[in-house]
Amino acid sequence: MQKLAGRGDEVVAGSFDLVIVGAGFAGLYMLHLARRMGFSAVVLEAAPGVGGTWFWNRYPGARCDVESMQYSYSFSEELQQEWHWSERYASQPEILAYANYVAWKFDLFCDIEFNTRVLAAAFQEDDCRWVVSTDQGMRYRAKWCVMATGCLSAAQIPSIPGLDSFQGPVYHTGSWPHEPVSLAGQSVGVIGTGSSGIQVIPEIAAQAGHLYVFQRTPNYSVPARNRPMDAEYESSWKAEYAQRRKKARAMSAGLLWDQGDKSALAVSPEERLQEYERRWAAGGTGIMAAYSDLLQNADANETVAEFVRGKIRNVVERSEVAELLVPVDYPIGAKRTCADTKYFETFNRENVTLVDHRASPIREMSSNGITAGSEFFRLDSLVLATGFDAMTGAISKIDIVGRRGLNLKEKWLNGPNTLLGLMTAGFPNLFIVTGPGSPSVLTNMIPSIEDNVQWIADCISHISEEGADFIEATGPAEETWMGEVRRAAEGTLFVQAKSWYLGVNVPGKPAVFMPYAGGMPAYQRICEEVAADGYRGFAIGTR
Ligand code: NAP
Repeated sequence: MQKLAGRGDEVVAGSFDLVIVGAGFAGLYMLHLARRMGFSAVVLEAAPGVGGTWFWNRYPGARCDVESMQYSYSFSEELQQEWHWSERYASQPEILAYANYVAWKFDLFCDIEFNTRVLAAAFQEDDCRWVVSTDQGMRYRAKWCVMATGCLSAAQIPSIPGLDSFQGPVYHTGSWPHEPVSLAGQSVGVIGTGSSGIQVIPEIAAQAGHLYVFQRTPNYSVPARNRPMDAEYESSWKAEYAQRRKKARAMSAGLLWDQGDKSALAVSPEERLQEYERRWAAGGTGIMAAYSDLLQNADANETVAEFVRGKIRNVVERSEVAELLVPVDYPIGAKRTCADTKYFETFNRENVTLVDHRASPIREMSSNGITAGSEFFRLDSLVLATGFDAMTGAISKIDIVGRRGLNLKEKWLNGPNTLLGLMTAGFPNLFIVTGPGSPSVLTNMIPSIEDNVQWIADCISHISEEGADFIEATGPAEETWMGEVRRAAEGTLFVQAKSWYLGVNVPGKPAVFMPYAGGMPAYQRICEEVAADGYRGFAIGTR
């Protein structure tokens, strides 16, 4: 990269049409599209490699809970034909290999600056340019700045008194070391029983001397029933990929699955049970698509929640342990339903102890263990499966300053405000891929990313062709959209659980339901209409 003279200690690394922050699936596709449209672009990535969240989440058992044939890019027919997924649900190493293959195939590496963390981005009103500063002492100037920073990329470390005094290693599932980690024969503690905990716990139990699982809230989990890819299944997808992707995008979660269209309450209990058993045997989270109202109607939801509770009680041999593992105080699906491999069975092992954080809250850590309630647990290693500062965490770590010194973190103090999750008023030419206010985490992420990136690329093209200098969300349109996001959430059961969707897993974060729950087709239609209507709700202008 050509380095120009800079101001102060910083070096001006160059001027581009776009600076893209993050080389996960969003950043890679944004770079590809930008280049195809003739724009110059650079991607700044903190990690030494591509893959985003899949680069960091390399804990044992890390695997996607969306089927591989669907959790992949659709923009290139050649790519989707030539890539072979080896399992029904891809493991983290395979997803990472895929991200690397995409970057290689589309020659993306040369425009990515690795080991480069973005610290700040400031909008210069005089020339409508973003100046992006990094921890490498570099400045990048660009007309457009795209935050492809991911929804689940800022690991959340709990504030446990004495955590720093613990002498053993502490691992977070979301930033797992690259070197092999051996926990063989050790006394290991795992805090957290969300999707990550549920995947890592059986793996650690198989090698640890003793595993203590510190559970605050039990989670609903269904068997993934992962298996090697069935050749016929793969061929059937590849034979009609385009049609199936189109059908998937017409479904609320952007996933082609067997979506029931009746209410769970419109059928007999026998019929319902048969349907739940069928889906349980098939594996995966498709059980939540058995009926049309499982995420809207509390009584309908209770039928599937009770079915899953029964399964947990059947699997877990010690009834007092089973009762601790059974979620009772929130609807199934209100927190993301997990897909596991022998999670509940793990609690039948002699070397696994479930510690109920609610009855015995974690009080402190010392050099060699953890005290929960009045009991001390000696530990050699600690694993934090405590999740993420989701949707806003990664963006908020960057000091982003828009018009008239407006700081994004301050603007979002009471919760994130965006227009369509794509832009936020006061920050012209700054885009967010799958930002708060978009369906993102409630959908199959990769198609959602593709749709957002395509919209951003089209928007940039349009503004450039118009000869305008900026596009910016307007305050009133943003307010209207946030009202829409609130209304969509209120019509669902999502708001009835204390989840990261609401941000309540992060102390001090305002409780605001962040994703748009109106479904992918509705959102996509609105995005298209807004663009077709000359970017309704956005201000377009010259400096
Ligand atoms: P999570 O769902 O937020 O779960 C975090 C867990 O840590 C919860 O059990 C939480 O308890 C517990 N916890 C947090 N702070 C704690 C504290 N101070 N003391 C005790 N317990 C504490 O995070 P995650 O499991 O990493 O999953 C996040 C999301 O990432 C998932 O929902 C999913 O979207 C994605 N993910 C997907 C996959 C997959 O595709 N299979 C795998 C991993 C992650 P509470 O519930 O009481 O807060």
